[in-house]
Amino acid sequence: MEEKIEALKILLSEKKNIVITIHRGPDGDAMGSALGLYNILLQNGHNISVISPNDYANFLYWLPGNEDVIVFTKQEKKAIEKTQNADLIFLLDFGQMTRLDTYAHVVENANAKKVMIDHHQEPDESISDILFSDVTACATAQIIFNIIDSLDWKHLINKEVAECLYTGIMTDTGSFKYSSTTERTHHIIAELIGKGADNSKIHDLVYDNFSENRVKLLGYCLNQKLLLFKENNSAIISLTAEELKRFNFQKGDTEGVVNYALTIEDVIFAAFIAEKEGMVKLSLRSKGNFKVNEIAKKYFNGGGHMNAAGGISNVSVAETIEILRKFLKNKKQN
Ligand code: 5GP
Ligand code: MN
Repeated sequence: MEEKIEALKILLSEKKNIVITIHRGPDGDAMGSALGLYNILLQNGHNISVISPNDYANFLYWLPGNEDVIVFTKQEKKAIEKTQNADLIFLLDFGQMTRLDTYAHVVENANAKKVMIDHHQEPDESISDILFSDVTACATAQIIFNIIDSLDWKHLINKEVAECLYTGIMTDTGSFKYSSTTERTHHIIAELIGKGADNSKIHDLVYDNFSENRVKLLGYCLNQKLLLFKENNSAIISLTAEELKRFNFQKGDTEGVVNYALTIEDVIFAAFIAEKEGMVKLSLRSKGNFKVNEIAKKYFNGGGHMNAAGGISNVSVAETIEILRKFLKNKKQN
């Protein structure tokens, strides 16, 4: 770690053209990490662009620096130019190039030095020049805080930086309740509040700011679309493109739906399946040592953490449910 910090210090010791990028469909941790790093590096006079592979939920638009984010699918030319001219590219909150979607080849072909900071299992070591990987960290934002600490840059954490990193940690820990939340996490959170992060305001902006359609869609999922398989301690919720259209689906509207399935007693595995942008996307969650990242990797070209993972299915929503049911039946027999 010390050697890597020294190498990073040298890379950042003079003004650079920097690109910060994150996984497609960025969540609170991806955006909070990217903009937290952005707001701290800005103070050192670098020329920085935050590039997201695609658009994201509007409950993250309030994050300080959001107005400067370049969305690759909307501003391809600008994103390519910034990436080609970059001296240094930060890759945050993902470990595989495929998670950049159509932006991946642009980053792969860039001459810049690459620094990856991630908390997912098995990051691809061939992608970056310096890899900060900590699979025990609850959020990439926590690793960023630790790096800031190691660089002796804590005095640069202003309100903007603090609010971004707070958001990353809050969203990836389910508001500090997942088992990944540690004493260290709470110490960091205390420091971020001390630096000006308004915890109550942030919670309100992220979790109590839903559109009427979003709340009604949640009700529909729970009331009409929840399949409970008691014998397998499992629950599945699915939505077709038609159903999403009916509720005027906006990006982020189904975030967290899968967690409701996991609130049912004795349920230790929950899946949410939705047909979005011509793809069938899965969100998998579990309790205990039920490894959902293995299912995501084996059947759905995906990955993630032991208790939270995701991927994409090549077949219909109904057929995807069948794949999961078959898996659960076989698992039970073994
Ligand atoms: P979510 O269900 O919230 O989209 O994602 C849960 C976790 O799984 C996150 O840690 C996320 O990074 C990971 N994940 C989601 N989708 C994919 C995917 O398509 N590929 C990989 N490798 N990981 C994913
Ligand atoms: Mn994360």
